[in-house]
Amino acid sequence: MLRLNLRELRGGLASMAGTLDPADPLFLGLGLHFREPVQVEGVLQEAGDGGYLWRGHVHGSLSGECRRCLTGVTLAVDDDVDVFFSADPELAEDPSVYPLAPESDEVDVTSAVREEIALRLSVFPLCRPDCKGLCANCGADLNAGPCPCAVSGSTN
Ligand SMILES: [Zn+2]
Ligand SMILES: [Zn+2]
Repeated sequence: MLRLNLRELRGGLASMAGTLDPADPLFLGLGLHFREPVQVEGVLQEAGDGGYLWRGHVHGSLSGECRRCLTGVTLAVDDDVDVFFSADPELAEDPSVYPLAPESDEVDVTSAVREEIALRLSVFPLCRPDCKGLCANCGADLNAGPCPCAVSGSTN
């Protein structure tokens, strides 16, 4: 459970750990899938003015396809994530602040962490930075060398 009861924060800090479901719909839209539940751990602390800062770390591995050549690629997520929660209505418009229900005595970091992960993964995967991709004409993998189109079609 990536939720924390704020009453447990009496000392100012509380830690939590858990996992995110790898089949979350937010991740499916990325064209990537997690091979196992995403490990999440972090510490929530009071940040003044009714705000809370969660400093966490996410860890997982994904598979997907190279955007250019469709080779299977594996990506690792191993990132620090900071999330700021506030019930202050003046901050409700701030995209970097996650809203907290005013009466709530609980912080649930699940959706915030999912969004932060999805943001980091919004770059399409490549098998390598200089992948040459597939020939649009014959579909040959140009990483393996020039295809017949490149040889005969150079006058084009
Ligand atoms: Zn590739
Ligand atoms: Zn070709």
